[in-house]
Amino acid sequence: MLLSLYLVSALPLESRLNKRSCSKTYKVVKGDTCYKIWNKYGLSESKLKNLNSGLSCSNLKTGTTLCVAGSSSSGSSSGSSSCKTTHTVKSGETCYKIWKQYGLSESQLRNLNSGLSCSSLKAGTKLCVAGGSSSGSNSGSSSGSSSGSSSGSCKTQYTVQSGDSCYKIWSKYSLSESSFKQMNSGINCSKLHKGDKVCVKTSSSSSGSSTSTSTNSHSSSSFTWYKECVHSKNYAITFDDGVYDYDNELLDLLKKKGVKATFFINGNNMSDIKSSSVRKTIKRMYDEGHNVLSHTWSHADLTHLSKSSTRSELKKLEDEIYSIIGKRPKSIRPPYGSNNSNTVDHLKYYGYSYGILWHVDTEDWKHKGDADQSINRISKGLKTSDRPIILNHSYFDKIKKDKLLKMIEKELDYLNGKGLKGVNMETCIGHNVYRSSGEGFPN
Ligand SMILES: [Zn+2]
Repeated sequence: MLLSLYLVSALPLESRLNKRSCSKTYKVVKGDTCYKIWNKYGLSESKLKNLNSGLSCSNLKTGTTLCVAGSSSSGSSSGSSSCKTTHTVKSGETCYKIWKQYGLSESQLRNLNSGLSCSSLKAGTKLCVAGGSSSGSNSGSSSGSSSGSSSGSCKTQYTVQSGDSCYKIWSKYSLSESSFKQMNSGINCSKLHKGDKVCVKTSSSSSGSSTSTSTNSHSSSSFTWYKECVHSKNYAITFDDGVYDYDNELLDLLKKKGVKATFFINGNNMSDIKSSSVRKTIKRMYDEGHNVLSHTWSHADLTHLSKSSTRSELKKLEDEIYSIIGKRPKSIRPPYGSNNSNTVDHLKYYGYSYGILWHVDTEDWKHKGDADQSINRISKGLKTSDRPIILNHSYFDKIKKDKLLKMIEKELDYLNGKGLKGVNMETCIGHNVYRSSGEGFPN
């Protein structure tokens, strides 16, 4: 269990590449692949690569000595040495509960616990909830202040007013989201507080430090995770894992309720995207104003995939979606919400700009479609956000159609009854969720 609890992604680059701290080596034999090796030692791809800086898996040579376990001082074999505080998961606890309890953001918790699977959190698992000093600089900031912006290079600051959102501010100053976020590194837009100072103009326009080093012309220069919409009183209901047989009636229901939704579909999971009935349903989703976005080809956990496998998971699905609606998504919900810094690098490289998580997980599958339980979770979520992204599924574990539809209807009635408006992801995040026309899948 501890295998997944290393801190690699939260550490600065320099400390990740510390070769002196290797406690176990392995000599590559004929026929080995990186995949074979990382599996043999219970490592992930990223862990193997972190232990072996510059490792070229496509050109692995027999006789090469690889590091397959870091020493405790490197912090990369187990989180224990650089983890300051651990938390033992209790039965019924969720990641959400844990990150709230320790004042962390979701991305901070994930950075501290690479490989963390929140959808199958097991009681007894030890999670790191506070890193050592060297890991203090992870990307998700839990404070709404402009912690990362250097006052030296910020020329104009803006003081957040009540009712402001990041979206409002960057629009007001005619900034793009990515330039705004570069000026305010670490800003947590879901926790913007009145009185916070944010930077809206830097002294040198080139001072923004884009982290993308890729030269691919279609790669994305920034990648942003969303758990909430940018405008208050909007909500985005999302359906994962389809297309499924119930989706057409779900579309009828959405139409009846005047709600636009978002479908995070797979190519080959509950159904085969090449079948004509599925293609027809996708076309209908799009034509009726919903967004059809990526949930990978086969519902793969992207944190377990190499760059080339990630490419195929994205491209296969994208090509099919494009052949149906003429659009290529550049927004994705990674299966299980699972992600780490490698995932983000891969997604950016392949031109993805937006990762969509959620503020409310209805846990529909867990309570077998019990509408009251879903409402309960939504109502809790509304206490901390008036613009939530809400996770549902097109299908799960033997759920009957009537039960699923009834549950969704109750959810929509509840949300609409609170004066909220159900919007698609494009409206929710205020960005084009598809690639611009003519932009193909990067090589
Ligand atoms: Zn899924």
